[in-house]
Amino acid sequence: MEQTFIMIKPDGVQRGLVGDIISRFEKKGFYLKGLKFINVDRPFAEKHYEDLSAKPFFSGLVDYIISGPVVAMIWEGKNVVLTGRKIIGATNPAESAPGTIRGDYAIEIGRNIIHGSDSAESARKEIALWFPDGPANWQSSVHHWIYE
Ligand code: ADP
Ligand code: MG
Repeated sequence: MEQTFIMIKPDGVQRGLVGDIISRFEKKGFYLKGLKFINVDRPFAEKHYEDLSAKPFFSGLVDYIISGPVVAMIWEGKNVVLTGRKIIGATNPAESAPGTIRGDYAIEIGRNIIHGSDSAESARKEIALWFPDGPANWQSSVHHWIYE
């Protein structure tokens, strides 16, 4: 079963959106397979966003991610990488559809609440970085009320 890495950024935590965000993934039918509430340091945030290191917003992005605790999660389910990105909405909240997390709760691209892996390959890298001990092992069987 596919897994993705989802992180509620410091603004999502400070604004009290943790429960709502977790609830959206749970209600969809995805399984929570990892959960950590942590502060990350600059080198770790730089590693997470290393593909964006040449961007002009990179240092501001790293400042943002280390500005407070984040909720790091592994979610599992069929097509969870792509569907997770749809639940999250477009990167720029000005373009995120209503009904998505960013579309409902964010205004600016530099305060867009949440991160989600953009491909199965990124998900593998990000899960290995954030969860070196691997996912929790509680519900690995297919649920007949969710999957046919
Ligand atoms: P996504 O988070 O949707 O995968 P990217 O990987 O392109 O988007 O960018 C990572 C994060 O960097 C974004 O979620 C956002 O917080 C920040 N970011 C992206 N573009 C900009 C920008 N033009 N100005 C400020 N921050 C940005
Ligand atoms: Mg990205």
